[in-house]
Amino acid sequence: MSRAKTKDILDVVISEAQARTKLNASMLKLRNKYGFAPEKGISQKEMQSRCDDLVGEVRKVVKEYVRTTGKAPDRMKNRSRYVESKDFPRKKYEGLQEYANVPDDKLKKAPLHTSEAIGNLLNFNADYLLKSAHEAAVKARTRKEWQRAEYEYVEKNDYNLRDLYDDLMQRLDDPFEPITVEEYREERRKWKKCGYYACDNYFPREKGHMESDAFRWSGINTRRSDAKYCCGGCRKKQENALVRLEKTGTLLPEHAYEYILDDARENRAENEVAKTDENIEKIARKR
Ligand SMILES: [Zn+2]
Repeated sequence: MSRAKTKDILDVVISEAQARTKLNASMLKLRNKYGFAPEKGISQKEMQSRCDDLVGEVRKVVKEYVRTTGKAPDRMKNRSRYVESKDFPRKKYEGLQEYANVPDDKLKKAPLHTSEAIGNLLNFNADYLLKSAHEAAVKARTRKEWQRAEYEYVEKNDYNLRDLYDDLMQRLDDPFEPITVEEYREERRKWKKCGYYACDNYFPREKGHMESDAFRWSGINTRRSDAKYCCGGCRKKQENALVRLEKTGTLLPEHAYEYILDDARENRAENEVAKTDENIEKIARKR
């Protein structure tokens, strides 16, 4: 190789290294500026403008890198080591394959000059933008919309209307000792829906209930004739919900409508993974 050519190649390598260092520094600045959670309750408009600013600055930084090097920023490759075995030859990635399936924990700690690090920073902020949009939509909900959500929200459902009807029908249709329609009506009248908005249970509240064998099916205890709830727990929960309604405009607890950020979602999913020894080790290694 001629001396001139060697020098050309060296120049390219050096200018690429310089460009990478510069990109690293710029990204570090951007991460310090945008890589933290925005203040709680930030408005959608403010979050949108934060994202617009970030995108503008990222574009400038990347453009500068592309102009100097003629290349897009580096992309991470999967460098996981595979245990070689007799049956399987060492795995070799070719072409695009080497960029695929980079482990999540490695992606999260992507070096600042990589496309992945830029993507992480954009994702992080986009997630908060979605959160602020969700919160704005929640704020704008009318009482009617809340009522619909409250209706759909069920915490307890041990013995609902359907169960009650199924059991009563079975007695009406009993081939040996069917109850009369009159008895059916009388029994149906004794059952009441629990007054807690998130409980679909029905319960009997008249002394006569279960006196006759024909009605001894549910094993559910009869409650006082003026009882409104299927149990003490539901009474307490309804009281709490009414306090909440005054404060927040809905009976629903916050967790029923809050936006879950990506990170929190991943942590939750991780907690749901079966805790075998192997999984525990895996989770421990990540921390
Ligand atoms: Zn209840």
